[in-house]
Amino acid sequence: MEFGSFGGQFLPDQILKAVKKVEEAYLKYKDDADFKQAYLDYLKDYVGRPSLLYEAKRTSGYFGGARLFFKREDLNHTGAHKINNVIGQALLAKRMGMKKLIAETGAGQHGVATATVAALLGMECEIHMGYVDVLKQSLNVYRMEMLGAKVVAVHEGLKTLKEAVDSALVAWANELDTSFYLIGSAVGPHPYPTMVRDFQKVIGEEIKTQLKIAEQCLPDYVIACVGGGSNAIGAFYDFIKDESVKLIGVEAAGLGLETKKHAATMTLGEVGVIHGMKTYVLKDEDGEISEVYSISAGLDYPGVGPEHSHLKATNRVRYESITDQEAIDAFMLTSKLEGIIPAIESAHALAYAYKLIPTLPKDQIVVVNLSGRGDKDVKQVARYLGHTLVD
Ligand SMILES: *Cc1c(COP(=O)(O)O)cnc(C)c1O
Repeated sequence: MEFGSFGGQFLPDQILKAVKKVEEAYLKYKDDADFKQAYLDYLKDYVGRPSLLYEAKRTSGYFGGARLFFKREDLNHTGAHKINNVIGQALLAKRMGMKKLIAETGAGQHGVATATVAALLGMECEIHMGYVDVLKQSLNVYRMEMLGAKVVAVHEGLKTLKEAVDSALVAWANELDTSFYLIGSAVGPHPYPTMVRDFQKVIGEEIKTQLKIAEQCLPDYVIACVGGGSNAIGAFYDFIKDESVKLIGVEAAGLGLETKKHAATMTLGEVGVIHGMKTYVLKDEDGEISEVYSISAGLDYPGVGPEHSHLKATNRVRYESITDQEAIDAFMLTSKLEGIIPAIESAHALAYAYKLIPTLPKDQIVVVNLSGRGDKDVKQVARYLGHTLVD
């Protein structure tokens, strides 16, 4: 396995063959100078990298204790870190001669990022989405269609993300020679978790360089939220070898760890197989994969990337959890104190930081990866707080 006893390629034969082709192509291009330059050029000229490292002084002042910095992935084109990965995989697909990108999406964030890059590179795009999610996320559906993508509504089973994954895989299996399956987080069979991490590790590399220039030191803590784990592994990866840097991944505790309504895979999960990989998984009493819950659609996943499972097993990263209520409090506070409306996902990492910094000495430095902006979440937060917005 790629990550200690985690990872692998647990797949039916036909899909395995296609994944092996992706693996071959990734090995061929990952160190190719032209490929790397094309990826870096898009990050700079299209995404707007490097993203800023901003000191949140009013928030540090409010809590007392350590200094706090935000890594501003929310300022990227399309408003989150997801674009870094999608550009990398789409460029690989092009190098492989593929014409079409296939992906699934839950709330629509990964679908929109994929549709964006398909438009940018002149590729076809097909996004599979459960019918329940299509109804809930009509704005994102229309956005994807505006960008030129075809959105396939999936009517099987519970009509949500799990069925959308199955549907996307069937579509891929029917067009293996011309299409590329683009995964949105550091999950799935090898090589996807490695590849996605490599396309996201720029986040941590930039944090290191920016902090070195500003403060001539390493951070004491780097904190990021964990759904599938791509923004977290991106922020952590360059610091894994720096033993003094404490790394904390923050999962969704939903309505509470004592309820069944959470997505705290690392805190309460067990080892199992999901989506082609061996990793920590949340299972119910019958050993089936649990239905998970979080107020944040991006953290609502019953598995986690296999590299995180390894980092947990080896105690290099600590995993904590934050409830809906704590995340909403951090969402509101950050908006009011910094003029930055964070994604609800990112607000989980912020909420943990806000518990931590008052306990630390004033010369310590905590960096929170602000994985995305919260414009998409305004309506939902309003509803949570008991307000109804009229269109
Ligand atoms: C999708 C998303 C996440 C969760 O995905 P990871 O792969 O765990 O990073 C977190 N934050 C934002 C803003 C997202 O859009």
